[in-house]
Amino acid sequence: MSVEASLARAKAAAARLPFVPGDVSELLRADAVTFCAKAPEPPVYRRRDDPSRAAARALIGEGEALLARAYQSNDSAWVTALEAWLLTLHHIADGKVELAEAAWVEAQRAELRATGRRRLYAVSDEARAPVFDPRTGQSRFDPRPERSMRMKVPCPACRKVSELSFSSSVALHQFGCTHCAATWWGYFGEVRSVEVSRRGNKRTYSFRLTELAGPQTRVEVEDASSGELQVAQNDLLAFLYHPRSVLRGVLNLSSSRVLWITGAGPCFVATVAFGPGAPELEVLRRFRDQGLLPSRLGRRLVAGYYTHGPALARVVNERPWLRRQTRRALSLVVRRLSERDHG
Ligand SMILES: [Zn+2]
Repeated sequence: MSVEASLARAKAAAARLPFVPGDVSELLRADAVTFCAKAPEPPVYRRRDDPSRAAARALIGEGEALLARAYQSNDSAWVTALEAWLLTLHHIADGKVELAEAAWVEAQRAELRATGRRRLYAVSDEARAPVFDPRTGQSRFDPRPERSMRMKVPCPACRKVSELSFSSSVALHQFGCTHCAATWWGYFGEVRSVEVSRRGNKRTYSFRLTELAGPQTRVEVEDASSGELQVAQNDLLAFLYHPRSVLRGVLNLSSSRVLWITGAGPCFVATVAFGPGAPELEVLRRFRDQGLLPSRLGRRLVAGYYTHGPALARVVNERPWLRRQTRRALSLVVRRLSERDHG
C-alpha cells in the first residue's frame, strides 16, 4: 500500500462525507491533535518486526479518515499536516527509517503550524527574523541579544542548587558546578505527554517532549527509587546528566520538584555493550565521515547493528540528542556496506 493510494482514498472519502453545518474546525483540530500524538516516532534502527511498524500501519486508516474531513472542510493547514503524517506513517510501516526521519520532522513542523500552538520557549535561529531598516533600505538580522533563561537547578553531582543562565535556543547545555566543580549536562524540553508504567518497584517514564527550540522527541527514564515525578502537559523539564552518559535526575522546572533516579539495572546492559559515553556512536560517525574503514569492521558493525540494536535503542532513548545522528549514521553504514557487497 502506497501513500498515493492513501491520499486518493481520503479524497474519495471526502466526496462521500455528509455535509456538516457550522464550524467543524475545532472538532477536526481536537481529533487531529489526538491522532498525531499517537503516531510513533521512527525507530532508532531497522528491524523486521519492529512494533512501531505495526503501530504505524494500524494508524493509517484513522489518518485517511481525518484527512478526508480536512479535505471536505478545506482546512489547508490540516491537509498539509495530515498528508505529512500519513507519509511518515507509510515510511515507518515500510521500515524506511531514514525517509521516515525526514518526513517525521516535516510532519511535526506542519502540525505545529496547523495547531498554531505557541511554544513557551520557541527561540531558534530562524526565529531571529531579518529587520528592515528604512534608512538604509536593507534587511539586517535582529540585533537584540539572544533570549536566555535563568533558573535554579541542582547539580546532579552534589545536589546543591545554583542559579544558571543559558541560551534558550539550544536544548543541551554543559554546566560547571560552583560548589563541587563537577562538569554536568542539562537537557531541556517541554512536556507534550507522559506515560508511566510500573513493574515491581520500578517505574518507567516515557516522555514525549518538544525540545527547547527544537523538534519533538522522546525520552525514556527508568527509576527504582521510592519517589514519583508528577508531570503535566507543557511543564518544562530538565534532564540532568553527570557524566554526560549517565542520567541522574529529572527536574520539573514548572513545579520545582526533582526526581533523583535510582539505577534500575538494565541500563548496565547498554554500558557493557557500548561503554560509557557510547563510543560505538563515534565509530559509526567516523565510518560515515571517512568511509575508509576496512569492510571487516564494517561487517562487524552490521552484525552489531542487529545484535546490539535494542541496547543501542536504550542508550539513545535516555539521551535524545543522539537520536537523529544515530539513526542517520546507522542507515548510512548499512547502505554503504550493502552497496559494497552488491557492487
Ligand atoms: Zn555540584
